[in-house]
Amino acid sequence: MKIGFIGLGNMGSPMAANLAAAGHDVTGFDLVADCPEGVSKAATVTDAATGADVVITMLPNGAILRAVAADIIPVMSKDAAFVDCSTVDVESARAVADDAIKAGLLAVDAPVSGGVGGASGGTLTFMAGGSDAAFAKAQPLFDIMGQKAVHCGPSGNGQAAKICNNMILGATMIATCEAFALADKLGLDRQSMFDVVSTSSGYSWTMNAYCPAPGIGPQSPADNGYKPGFASELMLKDLRLSQQAAEAVNADTPMGERATALYASFVENEGGKGTDFSAMLPRFEKKGRG
Ligand code: NAD
Repeated sequence: MKIGFIGLGNMGSPMAANLAAAGHDVTGFDLVADCPEGVSKAATVTDAATGADVVITMLPNGAILRAVAADIIPVMSKDAAFVDCSTVDVESARAVADDAIKAGLLAVDAPVSGGVGGASGGTLTFMAGGSDAAFAKAQPLFDIMGQKAVHCGPSGNGQAAKICNNMILGATMIATCEAFALADKLGLDRQSMFDVVSTSSGYSWTMNAYCPAPGIGPQSPADNGYKPGFASELMLKDLRLSQQAAEAVNADTPMGERATALYASFVENEGGKGTDFSAMLPRFEKKGRG
């Protein structure tokens, strides 16, 4: 396929490289970043999209996605697919998909889970929203860039799945970290805490697979000085998107709201920026109740 790839940052660059390595004809565009090996560079964003069977975007936020979409939708070939893999607000995802469909294109919102490691290794999980035909057109590309693609329903549902998952993740990480810090103060050693919780009803992905306590459980960013991993500021971005969506549909999400406030304070006032999101544990260690 002829693929236009727009946004070649930490995630987009290895994703585009994997598509090129699989034999696709990939043309990339980024305002700043260079193209990875195998990807030819377009001079403008519209050049990257013109004549492509599929255009993939991997951009920082919904406002940038909307601006790029306004530029490229008019030049895309009829029946081409616009596949957005960025994490953006549900409203922007649905607005861009509407515009694309009105222009005779197929549209998929397909945010990812798996981070930079998953992007490089081609093991991402895609959560996709769009018509059956749009999903079918994008699926062979998801199979190259990832290990799993779930079709979650119509446009916007990929973003909805992503922020619901990450709202659980943020709240669960905080619950795991505060419980470790409480256990410390109660004189319960961390290995015992892990051995019990990881095999009891408090188990979770954050405890069992990504334990925030160094030296306990499987290897995780905690064993590497809390280098990301999944950066705290990206967790905050996703939590804020979850609260924006909750407000839009009048959903009561008190745990998500509290998790958003805690990560906001951690990232903006407590030195958490640039650390893995599990660095909430040393934060709780240092704090009392006040
Ligand atoms: P990044 O900042 O490294 O990359 C974004 C790229 O977009 C940059 O290279 C930037 O120059 C480019 N860009 C910005 N505006 C542009 C424009 N108008 N035209 C062309 N290029 C433009 O970010 P990233 O880590 O690659 O993340 C991309 C998306 O994936 C985000 O929405 C993020 O939330 C999501 N995501 C990231 C991770 C992760 O672990 N990094 C995991 C899952 C999802």
